[in-house]
Amino acid sequence: MFPLIGIFGTSIYIYFYGVVWYEPILLLVFWFISGMGITMGYHRLFSHKSYQTNTFLEWVLMIFGSLALENTVLKWSSDHRKHHSFSETEDDPYSIVKGFWHAHIGWVLKNTTEEKSRIVGVKDLEKKSAIIFQNKYYYHIAIIGGVLIPLLIGLMYGRPLGAVLWGSFLRITLVHHATFLINSLCHYKGKRTYDSSSTSRDSWFISLFTFGEGYHNYHHKFPSDFRNGISWFAFDPSKWIISILSFFRITSHLRKTKDHLIFKSKFETLHTTLIEKLNNSNEMYQNLYKDKVSVLSNSANDILLSWQKIDINVNSISSYIDKKHLKEYRSEIKKIFKDLHNISRKLNKRGLVTNTI
Ligand SMILES: [Zn+2]
Ligand SMILES: [Zn+2]
Repeated sequence: MFPLIGIFGTSIYIYFYGVVWYEPILLLVFWFISGMGITMGYHRLFSHKSYQTNTFLEWVLMIFGSLALENTVLKWSSDHRKHHSFSETEDDPYSIVKGFWHAHIGWVLKNTTEEKSRIVGVKDLEKKSAIIFQNKYYYHIAIIGGVLIPLLIGLMYGRPLGAVLWGSFLRITLVHHATFLINSLCHYKGKRTYDSSSTSRDSWFISLFTFGEGYHNYHHKFPSDFRNGISWFAFDPSKWIISILSFFRITSHLRKTKDHLIFKSKFETLHTTLIEKLNNSNEMYQNLYKDKVSVLSNSANDILLSWQKIDINVNSISSYIDKKHLKEYRSEIKKIFKDLHNISRKLNKRGLVTNTI
């Protein structure tokens, strides 16, 4: 119903009454607020506890998240924690194994009344005041914040229907499908840099309209990291806002995966893929590259082992020598990755006997 009114209702309204600049702005502002409520609040704070904050921000994020109409924090987190713990099995509510449509929206449409009320594994959240309040007044918050406020804004500039269509119906449709794309497309297309055994993928493109949630392969590998896009240029506004708030001590205990573990998972994924490729190459290429891959892999393992020894707590490392070593390890491992990637590219071009990879 929402998408029908959101897309067709708004289109018909535009056809007859045009657009005033308030309306797309209203959509963007409410999209940002409700989207951040889901990513910063429902997902990274409540479901994964990837950082801590004060009760006030918990309330703000609970209210913002409610405006997205994606159910209560408890139900959302219960489903999401199952998605991580039981990925690609029967117990994964939005398992991609059951097909793209099921992972995208089918699981919502097929939900039985019994399933809708099934909430497990979220005892740690139940005592939070924001969540107790939301459980009592979820629809009140969603309707007042998500529909009545846009309506009041619309009344102020004389186009209440336009405001509700843009700020509520179309906006909720977009927020829903952006979230759903993470469950479907981010388990279907994209790179698997950190874990090749998972169906989850990294997609910078989906991050652009999901506040940074598109780096899903990384997120499945390290779900308690407060970042999803780890490089400085990765579009992850949720990460940026959480970091900025930590300067003002509004957020704290930001959980970050240690660098050597990130490089380790990257290396293991690259190595597994390369070995598979080598096994599928002709004998000449196997002879040419097998020893080289083995030497590079041994060096990578040695570096990662030494890195692990000094990376116990990067933040407290003050010694000049340790910092110098970290810098060296980082540049050496990057060089090895470059060489391994080059071999991988050469095998792609000429060496593969079969096209199975
Ligand atoms: Zn996922
Ligand atoms: Zn997650």
